[in-house]
Amino acid sequence: MKKILVMVLLFSSLVFGIESGERLYQISTIDALLAGHYDGDKTVSHIKANGNFGLGTFNGIDGEMVVDDGIVYQVKSTGEVLRVKDDLGVPFAAVHFFKADFSEKLKDINSYKKLKALLDTYEQCKNYPCGFKIEGDFNYIKTRSAPKATKPYPPLVKHIVETQNFFKAKNIKGTLIGYYLPKYFAKFNVAGYHFHFISEDKKFGGHVLEVDLNNGKIDLDKLYDLDIALLKTKEFEKGTLKVGEDDLDKVEKDIIKK
Ligand SMILES: [Zn+2]
Repeated sequence: MKKILVMVLLFSSLVFGIESGERLYQISTIDALLAGHYDGDKTVSHIKANGNFGLGTFNGIDGEMVVDDGIVYQVKSTGEVLRVKDDLGVPFAAVHFFKADFSEKLKDINSYKKLKALLDTYEQCKNYPCGFKIEGDFNYIKTRSAPKATKPYPPLVKHIVETQNFFKAKNIKGTLIGYYLPKYFAKFNVAGYHFHFISEDKKFGGHVLEVDLNNGKIDLDKLYDLDIALLKTKEFEKGTLKVGEDDLDKVEKDIIKK
């Protein structure tokens, strides 16, 4: 009888551990992506099995990935937004099963800088990764996406800087999907804030560079576990992962202006 009870407890903790959205699941590392490892061995169906919320990219850096309510969107470099097929490859992503631990209303946050300053006040996320879902009416939003790279793959900074397209929208409803990762994540992922956007009509999105939120609601999901799936590819096994120290800033931060 005791054994059965222990098994039931174990099983329920496993089930609830996953369902409560406490595990961040990541494919590959940011250094691998920066170094040009653009083809992963995992697919979109694998992403869906490990989360219903998150962000990433597709094989060849073919646009920006936004995962919202279990649907995986691809924001192409043309700005077109597609619902992707399950067999599309994924070289880099971070996803989890979202369940809000905390929610509140937001109003008049007129820059990305101000948004980050507000998110910094959530002390529960100081030393833990947190998922943030911010749904609302935006006065303005600026995003970017890059086209699929051709082989031999250039380093990520070169590819993004030389090929990215910028998109701007005014008076748009939509959702910011992203994460805060503490500094100690810097070796594996983008430390700090990283957001992608998808509009309510699913026609606009991308990697977020600037926001002006009129009003909305934020859901915060604090995470406790991390699972990283390294690429199972010959290129990763034999390739170099060395990249410049400031390369990440050039790609991920909003210093790239056209
Ligand atoms: Zn991004």
